[in-house]
Amino acid sequence: MAIRLLNPRCLTLNSILKKSQLVKERLYGKTLNELIAVTKRVSLPGFAAKQIADWLYKKEIQTIEEMTNLSKRMREVLSNDYEIGLSAPVNAAVSSDGTRKYLFNVLNDKYIETAFIPGEDRATICVSSQAGCKMGCLFCMTGRQGFQGNLSSNEILNQFRSLPEFRSLTNMVYMGMGEPLDNMTEVLKSLDIMTSEWGYGWSPTRITVSTVGIIGSIKEFLEKSSCHLAVSLHSPFDDERRMLMPVRRTNNLNEILDIIRNFDLNRQRRVSFEYILFKGLNDTPRHVKELSRILNGIKCRINIIRFHQIPGSPFSSPDNSTLVDFKDALNAKGILTTIRASRGEDIGAACGLLSTLRQNERKQV
Ligand code: SF4
Repeated sequence: MAIRLLNPRCLTLNSILKKSQLVKERLYGKTLNELIAVTKRVSLPGFAAKQIADWLYKKEIQTIEEMTNLSKRMREVLSNDYEIGLSAPVNAAVSSDGTRKYLFNVLNDKYIETAFIPGEDRATICVSSQAGCKMGCLFCMTGRQGFQGNLSSNEILNQFRSLPEFRSLTNMVYMGMGEPLDNMTEVLKSLDIMTSEWGYGWSPTRITVSTVGIIGSIKEFLEKSSCHLAVSLHSPFDDERRMLMPVRRTNNLNEILDIIRNFDLNRQRRVSFEYILFKGLNDTPRHVKELSRILNGIKCRINIIRFHQIPGSPFSSPDNSTLVDFKDALNAKGILTTIRASRGEDIGAACGLLSTLRQNERKQV
């Protein structure tokens, strides 16, 4: 029997009731422990949690109805409050070099970017962990968007699962929009699902999480995850780092390096430093000398990255020979250094460009 609620306060209650019926909780992105809690909540037997995890992460189902080793009754009970919760990208841009950038709709009306980067012997996905970012790095388009919200584990992993190239992926990097260690809980959950036997069962060595270097969070990450860590360095001098990455929490460099130096990394685990080379700013012999001094005793590698121009930026990229000379000078000092190939330049390689365009378009409509 339908209940009619007439006064305005009851109308509000009506809309809340309606909303609660429409918005179902998403199962995809839940850890095994969370799925056990779900089974308890809806009075399903405990063993169903492992079966649900199996359907979510090992089989490619789209609906609860497809979980055929659960009884029809169990599926009905589950469907009352839950859905799988996958969503396809809303837009894509394809580069002439094969790189593809996808836009996903998150947090109702925000956009995030996900990149698919094919290589000779690997296929990498670059995922976002936040919509926008608080860190405000001067060279980054995402930083200019400001912070719009943390992605849930569902929204982080949906980028992986709903990528058209999903089945070909071999590696995953958390180097898209946002600072992963500023969304530690959801990022750790997503890593748990990626690397657990009941989840995707990937080796942690196929996954790299990148950070500007948030003191406190780095140690927690190293202790709670076995995935590779990449720290944005960009200069061996604290004052220059603060200028490029103004967020107070990125510093101090010595503290970051001490945490890494004193952490017992196993043989497979890798720490790398990202170094965007800016013309005339951080590409001098003085920088090479200081880098070799501060990284002394740390088993690591440096990835040199060409700066991708963003609108209105005061920075520019040095020419190729400067890049190669800088790399060679560091290698000569005994620091394993590589230049990361630029990908997707014709589709806005800089992180945050596409989503900013999309948001601007929406504002104009
Ligand atoms: S570079 Fe990374 S941490 Fe810095 S503003 Fe951009 S997304 Fe945030």
